[in-house]
Amino acid sequence: MARYIGPVCRLCRREGMKLFLKGERCYTEKCAIEKRNLPPGQHGKARKAKMLGYGLQLREKQKVKRTYGVLENQFRRYFEAADRQRGITGETLLQLLERRLDNAIYRLGFATSRPQARQLVKHGHFLVNGKKVDIPSYQLRQGDVVALRQSSEKNPAILHAIEEVKGRGIPEWLSLDAAASSGRVVSLPTREQINLPVQEQLIVELYSK
Ligand code: SF4
Repeated sequence: MARYIGPVCRLCRREGMKLFLKGERCYTEKCAIEKRNLPPGQHGKARKAKMLGYGLQLREKQKVKRTYGVLENQFRRYFEAADRQRGITGETLLQLLERRLDNAIYRLGFATSRPQARQLVKHGHFLVNGKKVDIPSYQLRQGDVVALRQSSEKNPAILHAIEEVKGRGIPEWLSLDAAASSGRVVSLPTREQINLPVQEQLIVELYSK
């Protein structure tokens, strides 16, 4: 699956908020948003005008896409899947993204960022219900158990990540068994448990045109 490989801090500056794409750096004063919260490019300053209508809807979509590391076509498929389900489409969309395996790995504290979690999953470091899964977009269900493979328990990158993100907190829809290096999906995430400051309704409006 294709992915964005350009400079990631630029994406945060474009959205005017932290998307937490660089792990530890995002929590330090080296973060580009802390240093210079302006849109990228020569005319960045001039572009910081108040946005309305389509522009605002587009920015909300881009924030979500970039946060979860999903490109346009895949994001649209998530939207279509959310639209087919009962309930509030915008919330279902966020729930589907939140249930991605790479996101759960990040939320459980096995990785410092979603991009790192994605890479760890692709390298086959995790099991879901005892079976190796190397698909970052794998959709977790209630009751699923995600575990670090025994052979990966001494992986320096993972050990470093676990140490680094200690104390950052686990969302209520997940439970962590640190001793067993595993986590469980206790329930499906609710909107309140998805800590993402976006107006998802605007994304629904954008795609409903
Ligand atoms: Fe975004 Fe992290 Fe870069 Fe800050 S350090 S701009 S939060 S990717």
